[in-house]
Amino acid sequence: MRSSTEAVLEYLIIKVLAGRDNIVRAVHDYFVNSVSPSSVAIRYSLSKHQVRGYIQRIVEKTGSVVKARVLLKHAIPIILKIKPIVKEINGHIARCGLCGEELPSQIMEDHIRKRHAGLIDEYLESTVEIIKKNITLSRNS
Ligand SMILES: [Zn+2]
Repeated sequence: MRSSTEAVLEYLIIKVLAGRDNIVRAVHDYFVNSVSPSSVAIRYSLSKHQVRGYIQRIVEKTGSVVKARVLLKHAIPIILKIKPIVKEINGHIARCGLCGEELPSQIMEDHIRKRHAGLIDEYLESTVEIIKKNITLSRNS
């Protein structure tokens, strides 16, 4: 079973892979930079309702706002370096760059989770490794 940390990282990694990095940037601004949900919503073209939903998911997964803040501060700069595998074709349809499938944009995250779980695991593992290394370095400096 996955730890709560891994569950949050996986959640964010899938968003970036699906080309929805604006959501990852939005929750970063909220948790790390203390920007209000309404300002975050405007900045990243999301609804306030959506932003609150993403925030809630992350708090549920980590267990607290404080834990979420610490984790996201370390994790998001690393996760944002991941390249999306999904390319939007029009407003509703997107193409998966890995298998070539064209699907409704809304189900792309599901597609990645089901079909490309190995890739998610690779990114998860390397993200955890980099976070651990960075934390060790900052403790020793
Ligand atoms: Zn695919």
